[in-house]
Amino acid sequence: MSNQDFREFDPDEKDTAEISDEVIEEVTGKESNDSNDDTSKKPTEFCYICHRPDNITGPLIKMAPGMSVCRDCMQSTFDSMGNFGFGGGDNSKSNINMNKMPNISFLNLGSLFGEGPKVKNAHGSATAKDKEDRPAPAIDINNIIPPHKIKEKLDEYVVGQDYAKKVMSVAVYNHYKRVATGTMDDIEIEKSNMLMLGPTGSGKTYLVRTLARLLDVPLAITDATSLTEAGYIGDDIESVVSKLLAAAGNDVERCQQGIIFIDEIDKLAKKKNANQRDVSGESVQQGMLKLLEGADVEVPIGASSKNAMVPTTTINTRNILFICGGAFPAMDEIIKARLNKHSSMGFMADLKDKYDEDKNILQKVTVEDLREFGMIPEFIGRLPIVFATETLDEDMLVRILKEPKNAIIKQYQKLLELDEVKLDFEEEALHAIAKKAVEKKLGARGLRSIIEEFMLDIMFEIPKDDNIGQVIITEEYIEKKGGPKILLRASGALPEKAAAN
Ligand code: ADP
Repeated sequence: MSNQDFREFDPDEKDTAEISDEVIEEVTGKESNDSNDDTSKKPTEFCYICHRPDNITGPLIKMAPGMSVCRDCMQSTFDSMGNFGFGGGDNSKSNINMNKMPNISFLNLGSLFGEGPKVKNAHGSATAKDKEDRPAPAIDINNIIPPHKIKEKLDEYVVGQDYAKKVMSVAVYNHYKRVATGTMDDIEIEKSNMLMLGPTGSGKTYLVRTLARLLDVPLAITDATSLTEAGYIGDDIESVVSKLLAAAGNDVERCQQGIIFIDEIDKLAKKKNANQRDVSGESVQQGMLKLLEGADVEVPIGASSKNAMVPTTTINTRNILFICGGAFPAMDEIIKARLNKHSSMGFMADLKDKYDEDKNILQKVTVEDLREFGMIPEFIGRLPIVFATETLDEDMLVRILKEPKNAIIKQYQKLLELDEVKLDFEEEALHAIAKKAVEKKLGARGLRSIIEEFMLDIMFEIPKDDNIGQVIITEEYIEKKGGPKILLRASGALPEKAAAN
C-alpha cells in the first residue's frame, strides 16, 4: 500500500488549523483557485471529518459547537449507514430510504442545496426534450381511441379474460375522455375507479400493467397489506401517490394522469368481532376515501415518507385512475349463500349444490356481497366499476404459453435461436404443462416455474453440442417418462434420447 493510502490515518498529520494551502490542494485534488469554487474567500471553518476548508466544500453543517461537517462527508456517513442495513438501502438512488425503520428517512443533502430530485419545471410539466425522448405511445390519452381498439391492443398480450378487457377498455376510455375534457358544462363525469376480483395468477396485475404500458401513463403498484393508518408502523396511505410520482419521474402533470393499482385489497376487509382499533383494515379503507375521490395530497419528492427536511409537492388525485384488485377468498361462499337463499324458495327452488361447480362464481359478485365481506359502503361507492377475471382453465393456460406477443415459449425459442437451435413443443406437451399448473392452483403464475424446471437441462446441455439443430419437447419429457426429441443438423432424427439428467 502506498503512503497515500494511509494519509487520512497518519497520526502525525498537522492539526486542521495549521493545514497549508498545498495540503488543501492535495486532498481536494483541485487547485485552490479552481474557478468553480469560491476560493478567493478566506477559509473560515474546516470540516470536522475531511478537514477541508469551507471555501472548498461549500457551507458546512453545524453539528455541535466547534464541530461542523461538509455535505460530502455527511452524505457518505448516511450512505454507509444504509450499507450497514439500517436503510435497506439502495445506494444507487440519491435518497436512502429507511424502509426498515418506519417513519425515518435519510435525505439527500443535495436537495437541501437545490440539487436533489427535482419536480419537472415550475408547472410540473415535462420539458419538450423529455417528451421528445419518450417513444410515441401506442394509445394517445389526449386523443384516445375507442374502447374496441383498446381491447384489440390488450388482446395482443392478454389471453382470454374478454369480459375484464371489455370493462377495462370502456372504463379507461371514459376516464381519459373525462381527463381530456376537464369538466363538461355542469355535468361532472364520475371517476371510473375499478375493483377487480379474481383468483391468484389470473392476470389482474398483468392486465393493469399492460394497459398502463399501452397508454404510456405512469403506474404505481402497491400491496394493501403494507398500508396502515397514518402515524402507525407501515406505509401511510398517501405513500401510494409518492410511488406514482416517482414512476412519473417526478413530473407532476404526468403523475396526475397515472394509474395506481392497489393489490390485495381484500386484506383491508373489516375484521369481524374486532374490539381493537383496526389500523390496517377498516381505517385504511376510511383513509383512502378522499384519495379515491380526488384530493390534494402533499407528497415528498424522491422519498417515501414525509420528513421536515424532504421537499414536498402537491398532487391532485382527481384524475388518477385507481384500480383495486384482490382474490377475495371465501367470497365464493358469500355469493353461493346469497344465490342459494334466493333459489331455495318456492317453485324456483334449485338444487343446493347448483353453484358448487361454478368456477367463475366471483363474476356474480354484487355490492351487498362486498359489504358482507367487510368492505365499507363508502369505499365500494368510490369504486363504481366492479368485475371479476375468470379462473384460467387448461386450454387458456395452453394459449397463454404460446399466443401472447411475449409468450413464455416464444422467449425460450428466441433464446435457443441465438444458438441456432430450433425449439418446438408438441401440443400434448403444452397440455401436460397446463395440467400441472391447474393442479398447483397458481394460475398462469405456475407456468413459468414448471417450464423452468425442465428447460434447465435443455438450456444447459444444448450449447455443449454444436451438431444439435432442433429440440422437440414431448409429453413424456414433461411427465418425466422419457426425453425430448433431439435432431441433428442436416441429418435425420435421432432416436429419442434420454433427458440429460
Ligand atoms: P394476479 O395479479 O391475478 O395474481 P398476475 O397478473 O400477476 O396475476 O399474473 C401472473 C403472470 O401470469 C403474469 O405476469 C402473466 O405473465 C401471466 N398471465 C396471467 N394471466 C394471463 C393472461 N390472461 N394472458 C397472458 N398472460 C397471463
